[in-house]
Amino acid sequence: MDIISIIFVFLFGACIGSFLNVVIWRLPRGESLAFPGSHCPSCGRAIRWYDNVPILSWCILRGKCRFCGVQISPRYLIVEAVTGLLMVGLWVCYYIMHVRNGITIFSSTWPTFIAHAILICGLLACSLIDIETFTVPLGICWFVALVGIVFAAVFPNSDVIPNITPAAGALGIGAVAGLIIALVLLHRGLMQPSFIDADYGAKNENQTDSGDGNSQKQPRQEHGVALSSRHGINPRKEILREILFLAPAIILGIGAYMLVKHVQPVSELWTSWHSDAHGNWFARHLCGFETALFGYLIGGLCVWGMRILGTLGFGKEAMGMGDVHIMAAVGAVTGWMIPTVAFFLAPIFGLLWAFYLLIRKNQHELPYGPWLSAASLAAMIFHDKIAAYFKNFGH
Ligand SMILES: [Zn+2]
Repeated sequence: MDIISIIFVFLFGACIGSFLNVVIWRLPRGESLAFPGSHCPSCGRAIRWYDNVPILSWCILRGKCRFCGVQISPRYLIVEAVTGLLMVGLWVCYYIMHVRNGITIFSSTWPTFIAHAILICGLLACSLIDIETFTVPLGICWFVALVGIVFAAVFPNSDVIPNITPAAGALGIGAVAGLIIALVLLHRGLMQPSFIDADYGAKNENQTDSGDGNSQKQPRQEHGVALSSRHGINPRKEILREILFLAPAIILGIGAYMLVKHVQPVSELWTSWHSDAHGNWFARHLCGFETALFGYLIGGLCVWGMRILGTLGFGKEAMGMGDVHIMAAVGAVTGWMIPTVAFFLAPIFGLLWAFYLLIRKNQHELPYGPWLSAASLAAMIFHDKIAAYFKNFGH
């Protein structure tokens, strides 16, 4: 029984991997994900469905196009296999090794498995694109975050996502409302974007004219380095714009928290919405929604806070906005705890790699996104051990 489920999960993962290959190639190049269908990058002929079976087709055709015989990168095969293995790994950890108390049987916790699988696929795609182009595709992060929030609201499971107090829930809703207001002000031109946005636009221009991917290496050189005064901008001044952008979120978040905490009638109403004294259907879904929203904020704020402090301190851009979006997405799917742990874990992973490169005398630089992703995955799997550790630590 276990073997059958493992094979099925692997095949399913390999198919997702096949789609991720499309995403990884097309998204940074500004191409549509749906149209045209898969085609050979060399002769442009459409790939038949029977030549598009994950893993198998690549092996049968020995990595060559059926029509023109051009070599197809083994990357396609590797991404499909890795995605399949990651899905199997998640399945084995959750349903065979039972590493997490809240996730025991698939039939009752499938929404969690699906949401976590989507998160892992999103992290994989973001990491591979980040390694290649030094840019994190924000669309993937937003999609994963949306999945996290919708799943938490529709299928609330307080055993999987740590519960938060109603006041913290109010803080989350207030802060997200503040973010939306700031975004509207930004789009209306009433707020100025900081260097990240300007930088992001420049990147897109770079990539649209590199149709066939020949100039892939160009953005790597340009954007692999942190922005500093050498690029004709003052990072400390730019980061003040980001603080201004966050101001409505901070004010509304704290305002909502104070309102719920200290104003009697509001407090009573808010608490009654959250009590499941009457088997309250509404309260369960509201709590689920709030835990995801709160996780989204904490995940993003860890990195954004670090970025602001680092940039103010060192006078050059510290951590990218892409990293902020990655961790916000992790928080939306898994709650506030996992991105917080991953935030402290990621530098350790990164340092080990830097140490390895130092020994190998290799100068190849890597972006930070993949480390945040790897640390998030580790925190998801070892969640219970970490939670138990902090519980014991507190006593
Ligand atoms: Zn071809």
